Amino acid sequence: MASEAALTPEAARSIAPHLFPARTPITKAQIEAGINVCLDIQRRAVTFGKRPFAACLLGSDNETVLLMHQSIDQVNHAESSLARLAYSHYSKAYLWQCTLVSTWEPCAMCSSTIYWAHIGRVVYAASNEQLAQLTGPGNKENFTMNWHTRDILLGQQKDVEIIGPVEGMDKTVVEESDVYWKTTR
Ligand SMILES: [Zn+2]
Repeated sequence: MASEAALTPEAARSIAPHLFPARTPITKAQIEAGINVCLDIQRRAVTFGKRPFAACLLGSDNETVLLMHQSIDQVNHAESSLARLAYSHYSKAYLWQCTLVSTWEPCAMCSSTIYWAHIGRVVYAASNEQLAQLTGPGNKENFTMNWHTRDILLGQQKDVEIIGPVEGMDKTVVEESDVYWKTTR
């Protein structure tokens, strides 16, 4: 009989402590600066006909913008595309100290990719409910799914820190994204 497996962050840390270096707590000002970077990416993406979703990767100082990504299409989302790129560029130990920031709450696919890319923190400005309201029901451009980042990432062996929605910034993201979505409702 196999003994009960310990599937906790404490167990993961004791097995591979080098993969979980301490993360510098992120400040409100750093969170807002990161979201503003994403808003710039998103605005530019929309002028190229892309959908209003964007993400950036902040370094271990919570300020240096290492990478950025817009949404390419419905299967190449900003966050999962960025997480794959991040994993190609940096080591797991370093990524654990990094933060993926996005304008919108990462979906199940993106949250899982963030987990496997070993990115230690995710910050999103606006929630999936806010997106569902914005797109409206039965929007053929976005049949918005019903989920949360925390549904995927909470209670796993890696305790990825999750921050969002961000009060105040969420409204800015909703307003700016509506420039696109109002043409699709
Ligand atoms: Zn996604």
